[in-house]
Amino acid sequence: TTKLRLRSVSKSFIQPRTGHTTLAVADVSLDIASGEFICIVGPSGCGKSTVLNMIAGLDTPSAGAIEKDGVAITGPGADRGVMFQDYALMPWQTVQENVGFGLHHGTPGKGFTTQQRQERVRHFVELVGLTGSEKKYPHQLSGGMRQRVALARLLANGPDVLLMDEPLGALDAQTRLVLQQELLRIWGQTAPRAQRKTAIFITHDIEEAVFLADRVVVMSSHPGRVRAVIDIDLPRERN
Ligand code: ADP
Ligand code: ADP
Repeated sequence: TTKLRLRSVSKSFIQPRTGHTTLAVADVSLDIASGEFICIVGPSGCGKSTVLNMIAGLDTPSAGAIEKDGVAITGPGADRGVMFQDYALMPWQTVQENVGFGLHHGTPGKGFTTQQRQERVRHFVELVGLTGSEKKYPHQLSGGMRQRVALARLLANGPDVLLMDEPLGALDAQTRLVLQQELLRIWGQTAPRAQRKTAIFITHDIEEAVFLADRVVVMSSHPGRVRAVIDIDLPRERN
Protein backbone atom coordinates (compact mmCIF):
# COMPACT_ATOMS: atom_id res chain seq x y z
CA THR A 1 0.00 0.00 0.00
CA THR A 2 1.29 3.46 -0.85
CA LYS A 3 1.40 5.74 2.13
CA LEU A 4 2.27 9.03 0.53
CA ARG A 5 1.71 10.10 -3.04
CA LEU A 6 2.79 13.38 -4.58
CA ARG A 7 1.11 13.93 -7.93
CA SER A 8 2.68 16.60 -10.14
CA VAL A 9 3.16 18.92 -7.21
CA SER A 10 4.30 22.48 -7.89
CA LYS A 11 4.72 25.40 -5.56
CA SER A 12 5.37 29.00 -6.45
CA PHE A 13 6.01 31.85 -4.07
CA ILE A 14 5.45 35.49 -4.83
CA GLN A 15 8.44 37.43 -3.49
CA PRO A 16 6.98 40.17 -1.33
CA ARG A 17 9.51 42.87 -2.26
CA THR A 18 9.82 42.41 -6.01
CA GLY A 19 6.48 40.82 -6.78
CA HIS A 20 8.33 38.20 -8.84
CA THR A 21 7.16 34.62 -8.78
CA THR A 22 9.65 31.91 -7.77
CA LEU A 23 8.84 28.41 -8.90
CA ALA A 24 10.23 26.66 -5.81
CA VAL A 25 9.00 23.17 -6.71
CA ALA A 26 8.08 22.06 -10.23
CA ASP A 27 6.07 19.00 -11.13
CA VAL A 28 7.27 16.63 -8.42
CA SER A 29 5.72 13.17 -8.48
CA LEU A 30 6.70 10.61 -5.92
CA ASP A 31 5.21 7.48 -4.38
CA ILE A 32 6.47 6.68 -0.91
CA ALA A 33 5.62 3.29 0.51
CA SER A 34 4.57 2.71 4.07
CA GLY A 35 7.64 2.16 6.28
CA GLU A 36 10.09 3.49 3.73
CA PHE A 37 13.00 5.77 4.68
CA ILE A 38 13.45 8.48 2.03
CA CYS A 39 16.26 11.03 2.00
CA ILE A 40 15.98 14.17 -0.10
CA VAL A 41 19.27 15.73 -1.19
CA GLY A 42 20.09 18.67 -3.40
CA PRO A 43 21.65 22.13 -3.35
CA SER A 44 20.43 24.91 -1.11
CA GLY A 45 17.23 26.43 -2.46
CA CYS A 46 16.17 23.47 -4.61
CA GLY A 47 12.86 23.11 -2.76
CA LYS A 48 13.59 20.34 -0.25
CA SER A 49 12.02 22.14 2.70
CA THR A 50 9.09 23.23 0.58
CA VAL A 51 8.35 19.59 -0.34
CA LEU A 52 8.58 18.56 3.31
CA ASN A 53 6.41 21.47 4.46
CA MET A 54 3.73 20.58 1.93
CA ILE A 55 3.65 16.98 3.20
CA ALA A 56 3.45 18.39 6.73
CA GLY A 57 0.52 20.51 5.59
CA LEU A 58 2.34 23.73 6.53
CA ASP A 59 2.44 24.82 2.88
CA THR A 60 -0.17 24.21 0.19
CA PRO A 61 0.76 23.11 -3.34
CA SER A 62 0.06 25.68 -6.05
CA ALA A 63 -0.74 22.78 -8.37
CA GLY A 64 -1.00 19.03 -8.02
CA ALA A 65 -1.95 17.09 -4.93
CA ILE A 66 -0.49 15.20 -2.01
CA GLU A 67 -2.29 12.19 -0.61
CA LYS A 68 -1.75 10.03 2.42
CA ASP A 69 -3.43 6.64 2.13
CA GLY A 70 -5.54 8.01 -0.67
CA VAL A 71 -6.77 11.03 1.27
CA ALA A 72 -5.69 14.54 0.27
CA ILE A 73 -3.55 16.38 2.80
CA THR A 74 -5.17 19.71 3.49
CA GLY A 75 -3.31 20.92 6.56
CA PRO A 76 -1.15 19.92 9.52
CA GLY A 77 -2.14 16.82 11.46
CA ALA A 78 -0.88 14.71 14.34
CA ASP A 79 -0.38 11.85 11.87
CA ARG A 80 2.66 13.72 10.50
CA GLY A 81 5.38 14.98 12.86
CA VAL A 82 8.15 17.40 11.96
CA MET A 83 11.65 17.76 13.41
CA PHE A 84 13.90 20.67 12.51
CA GLN A 85 17.60 21.44 12.69
CA ASP A 86 17.12 24.11 15.35
CA TYR A 87 15.41 21.70 17.79
CA ALA A 88 12.49 24.03 18.57
CA LEU A 89 12.60 22.93 22.21
CA MET A 90 11.00 25.12 24.81
CA PRO A 91 13.87 26.59 26.86
CA TRP A 92 11.80 27.05 30.02
CA GLN A 93 10.73 23.40 30.05
CA THR A 94 12.68 20.38 31.25
CA VAL A 95 13.54 17.41 29.06
CA GLN A 96 10.50 15.48 30.25
CA GLU A 97 8.19 18.45 29.82
CA ASN A 98 9.48 19.03 26.29
CA VAL A 99 8.99 15.36 25.43
CA GLY A 100 5.49 15.33 26.93
CA PHE A 101 4.45 18.67 25.52
CA GLY A 102 2.42 17.46 22.53
CA LEU A 103 0.63 14.96 24.74
CA HIS A 104 -1.23 17.78 26.43
CA HIS A 105 -2.24 19.41 23.18
CA GLY A 106 -1.84 16.90 20.34
CA THR A 107 -4.69 14.80 19.06
CA PRO A 108 -3.39 11.45 20.36
CA GLY A 109 -2.77 13.00 23.78
CA LYS A 110 -6.33 14.05 24.30
CA GLY A 111 -7.16 10.74 25.87
CA PHE A 112 -4.04 10.26 28.01
CA THR A 113 -4.22 10.27 31.77
CA THR A 114 -1.32 11.95 33.62
CA GLN A 115 0.03 8.50 34.47
CA GLN A 116 -0.12 7.29 30.86
CA ARG A 117 1.54 10.48 29.72
CA GLN A 118 4.33 10.07 32.25
CA GLU A 119 4.87 6.45 31.22
CA ARG A 120 5.00 7.47 27.57
CA VAL A 121 7.50 10.23 28.33
CA ARG A 122 9.62 7.79 30.37
CA HIS A 123 9.60 5.27 27.53
CA PHE A 124 10.71 7.71 24.82
CA VAL A 125 13.29 9.42 27.05
CA GLU A 126 14.80 5.98 27.61
CA LEU A 127 14.59 5.08 23.92
CA VAL A 128 16.74 8.08 22.95
CA GLY A 129 19.20 7.45 25.79
CA LEU A 130 18.35 10.40 28.01
CA THR A 131 17.35 8.58 31.18
CA GLY A 132 18.83 10.57 34.08
CA SER A 133 18.52 13.91 32.27
CA GLU A 134 14.72 14.24 32.63
CA LYS A 135 14.91 17.30 34.89
CA LYS A 136 17.52 19.18 32.87
CA TYR A 137 16.75 22.22 30.77
CA PRO A 138 17.76 22.51 27.09
CA HIS A 139 20.60 24.98 27.87
CA GLN A 140 22.18 22.33 30.12
CA LEU A 141 22.42 19.85 27.24
CA SER A 142 24.80 19.41 24.30
CA GLY A 143 23.51 19.87 20.76
CA GLY A 144 23.34 16.12 20.28
CA MET A 145 21.32 15.67 23.47
CA ARG A 146 18.95 18.46 22.48
CA GLN A 147 18.35 16.72 19.19
CA ARG A 148 17.65 13.49 21.11
CA VAL A 149 15.00 15.39 23.07
CA ALA A 150 13.49 16.64 19.82
CA LEU A 151 13.44 13.07 18.48
CA ALA A 152 11.79 11.75 21.66
CA ARG A 153 9.15 14.46 21.45
CA LEU A 154 8.52 13.66 17.79
CA LEU A 155 8.07 9.95 18.55
CA ALA A 156 6.04 10.47 21.74
CA ASN A 157 3.40 12.23 19.68
CA GLY A 158 2.94 9.01 17.71
CA PRO A 159 2.87 10.24 14.11
CA ASP A 160 2.87 7.63 11.30
CA VAL A 161 5.07 9.85 9.14
CA LEU A 162 8.33 11.34 10.44
CA LEU A 163 9.37 14.48 8.60
CA MET A 164 12.92 15.59 9.39
CA ASP A 165 14.43 18.76 7.94
CA GLU A 166 18.22 18.50 8.32
CA PRO A 167 17.89 17.44 11.94
CA LEU A 168 21.58 16.58 12.27
CA GLY A 169 22.88 19.47 10.18
CA ALA A 170 24.08 21.59 13.08
CA LEU A 171 25.98 18.83 14.88
CA ASP A 172 29.68 18.03 14.74
CA ALA A 173 30.70 15.09 12.55
CA GLN A 174 31.23 12.60 15.38
CA THR A 175 27.88 13.33 17.08
CA ARG A 176 26.21 13.13 13.71
CA LEU A 177 27.53 9.64 13.03
CA VAL A 178 26.31 8.47 16.43
CA LEU A 179 22.88 9.99 15.92
CA GLN A 180 22.56 8.56 12.40
CA GLN A 181 22.98 5.07 13.87
CA GLU A 182 20.66 5.82 16.78
CA LEU A 183 18.03 7.15 14.42
CA LEU A 184 18.07 3.96 12.36
CA ARG A 185 17.92 1.80 15.48
CA ILE A 186 14.98 3.76 16.88
CA TRP A 187 13.21 3.92 13.53
CA GLY A 188 13.39 0.12 13.41
CA GLN A 189 16.17 -0.82 11.01
CA THR A 190 15.77 -4.49 11.87
CA ALA A 191 11.99 -4.50 12.23
CA PRO A 192 9.68 -5.71 9.46
CA ARG A 193 8.71 -2.85 7.17
CA ALA A 194 5.08 -3.05 8.30
CA GLN A 195 6.11 -2.00 11.82
CA ARG A 196 8.20 0.97 10.74
CA LYS A 197 7.15 4.54 10.34
CA THR A 198 7.48 6.26 7.02
CA ALA A 199 10.44 8.65 7.27
CA ILE A 200 11.42 11.57 5.06
CA PHE A 201 14.75 13.13 5.91
CA ILE A 202 16.38 16.15 4.28
CA THR A 203 20.15 16.43 4.20
CA HIS A 204 22.93 18.21 2.34
CA ASP A 205 25.18 15.25 2.95
CA ILE A 206 25.04 12.54 0.30
CA GLU A 207 26.94 10.12 2.56
CA GLU A 208 24.34 10.60 5.26
CA ALA A 209 21.58 10.05 2.71
CA VAL A 210 23.12 6.83 1.41
CA PHE A 211 23.66 5.58 4.96
CA LEU A 212 20.09 6.26 6.10
CA ALA A 213 17.80 5.85 3.14
CA ASP A 214 16.01 3.08 1.32
CA ARG A 215 15.72 5.57 -1.54
CA VAL A 216 17.48 8.87 -2.17
CA VAL A 217 15.57 11.58 -4.00
CA VAL A 218 17.96 13.96 -5.76
CA MET A 219 16.62 17.44 -6.50
CA SER A 220 18.05 20.28 -8.58
CA SER A 221 17.17 23.95 -8.52
CA HIS A 222 15.72 26.69 -10.74
CA PRO A 223 13.13 25.34 -10.62
CA GLY A 224 13.21 22.67 -7.90
CA ARG A 225 12.73 19.34 -9.63
CA VAL A 226 13.35 15.70 -8.90
CA ARG A 227 16.33 14.68 -11.06
CA ALA A 228 16.81 11.13 -9.89
CA VAL A 229 15.47 8.62 -7.42
CA ILE A 230 18.15 6.16 -6.37
CA ASP A 231 17.41 2.79 -4.79
CA ILE A 232 19.89 1.96 -2.06
CA ASP A 233 20.41 -1.75 -1.72
CA LEU A 234 20.50 -1.95 2.06
CA PRO A 235 20.78 -5.26 3.87
CA ARG A 236 18.29 -4.04 6.47
CA GLU A 237 16.72 -7.39 7.14
CA ARG A 238 20.11 -8.88 7.94
CA ASN A 239 21.22 -6.18 10.40
P1 ADP B 1 15.85 24.05 0.23
O1 ADP B 1 15.14 23.47 1.41
O2 ADP B 1 16.21 23.03 -0.80
O3 ADP B 1 17.05 24.87 0.61
P2 ADP B 1 13.52 25.73 0.03
O4 ADP B 1 12.38 24.80 -0.12
O5 ADP B 1 13.76 26.31 1.36
O6 ADP B 1 14.83 25.04 -0.51
O7 ADP B 1 13.34 26.93 -0.99
C1 ADP B 1 13.09 26.74 -2.37
C2 ADP B 1 12.90 28.09 -3.04
O8 ADP B 1 11.69 28.68 -2.59
C3 ADP B 1 13.99 29.09 -2.72
O9 ADP B 1 14.21 29.87 -3.87
C4 ADP B 1 13.40 29.90 -1.62
O10 ADP B 1 13.94 31.20 -1.62
C5 ADP B 1 11.93 29.92 -2.00
N1 ADP B 1 11.06 30.04 -0.80
C6 ADP B 1 10.93 29.10 0.16
N2 ADP B 1 10.02 29.50 1.07
C7 ADP B 1 9.58 30.72 0.68
C8 ADP B 1 8.64 31.65 1.19
N3 ADP B 1 7.96 31.42 2.31
N4 ADP B 1 8.44 32.81 0.52
C9 ADP B 1 9.12 33.04 -0.61
N5 ADP B 1 10.02 32.21 -1.16
C10 ADP B 1 10.25 31.06 -0.55
P1 ADP C 1 0.13 18.19 34.12
O1 ADP C 1 0.58 19.58 33.82
O2 ADP C 1 -0.91 17.66 33.18
O3 ADP C 1 -0.19 17.94 35.54
P2 ADP C 1 2.54 16.86 34.80
O4 ADP C 1 2.87 17.94 35.75
O5 ADP C 1 2.20 15.50 35.31
O6 ADP C 1 1.40 17.29 33.79
O7 ADP C 1 3.79 16.68 33.84
C1 ADP C 1 4.26 17.66 32.94
C2 ADP C 1 4.96 16.93 31.83
O8 ADP C 1 6.11 16.23 32.31
C3 ADP C 1 4.06 15.91 31.21
O9 ADP C 1 4.29 15.86 29.81
C4 ADP C 1 4.47 14.62 31.86
O10 ADP C 1 4.27 13.55 30.98
C5 ADP C 1 5.91 14.83 32.18
N1 ADP C 1 6.26 14.22 33.47
C6 ADP C 1 5.99 14.70 34.70
N2 ADP C 1 6.46 13.92 35.66
C7 ADP C 1 7.04 12.88 35.05
C8 ADP C 1 7.75 11.72 35.51
N3 ADP C 1 7.93 11.44 36.78
N4 ADP C 1 8.23 10.87 34.58
C9 ADP C 1 8.06 11.14 33.30
N5 ADP C 1 7.44 12.21 32.80
C10 ADP C 1 6.93 13.09 33.66
